Amino acid sequence: MGNLSRFLDLKANLPNEVNLLAVSKGRDAYEIRSLAEFGQIHFGESRLQEALSKFKSLEDLNSLKWHFIGKLQSNKVRGVIRNFDFIHSIHSLELAQRVSRISGEENRAPKVMIQVKLRDDPTKSGFLEKDLLNDWSTLIDLPNINIIGLMTISPINLNSTDRKLLFKECRFLADRLGLLDCSMGMSGDWSEALDSGATWLRIGSYLFESLIN
Ligand SMILES: *Cc1c(COP(=O)(O)O)cnc(C)c1O
Repeated sequence: MGNLSRFLDLKANLPNEVNLLAVSKGRDAYEIRSLAEFGQIHFGESRLQEALSKFKSLEDLNSLKWHFIGKLQSNKVRGVIRNFDFIHSIHSLELAQRVSRISGEENRAPKVMIQVKLRDDPTKSGFLEKDLLNDWSTLIDLPNINIIGLMTISPINLNSTDRKLLFKECRFLADRLGLLDCSMGMSGDWSEALDSGATWLRIGSYLFESLIN
């Protein structure tokens, strides 16, 4: 097995209220198992089919928690609800309503985060701030979903200072709505997110690339 020092350093240095989500999309079950053996519990996947094939070979690790972080298509909602504990990427009211209805049918109550788009970015989905505020009373009344926070992704062209500003806005909006969690920060900007009040860092390549060598 490769080098675990990035993973161990990160884990050792995160404040208690900040969680590390190891983003395992594109990684195989063996790599996931390597981190799980060193105490990693939360893993993030962005494609249902890819995730399902890994779940089979990791069935014995029943304390793992799975987070869906990808763009959620309506025909994948039931499969995601059956197989994941958290959904970070609720990007529209219509999707939230569908997740609520199907969660009821499946007798599940996933923890969800609402994806917000705080900067113009044609490559990303998510609620605009004004739409989220408009839809908020409808969202919090939906049964069978437990809204725990907001999720955001920085546009690639922002520098470090502007990313911090963006993440702070996300934190501020979550606080205003009474939400504890902010899922923000990836391999390239997790320290900015950490400084700005993230509670879930979604980190993939930074962790896994040091494992395989
Ligand atoms: C892939 C992905 C990540 C992790 O990206 P890295 O740059 O590999 O850390 C985080 N969040 C989302 C939504 C992703 O799709």
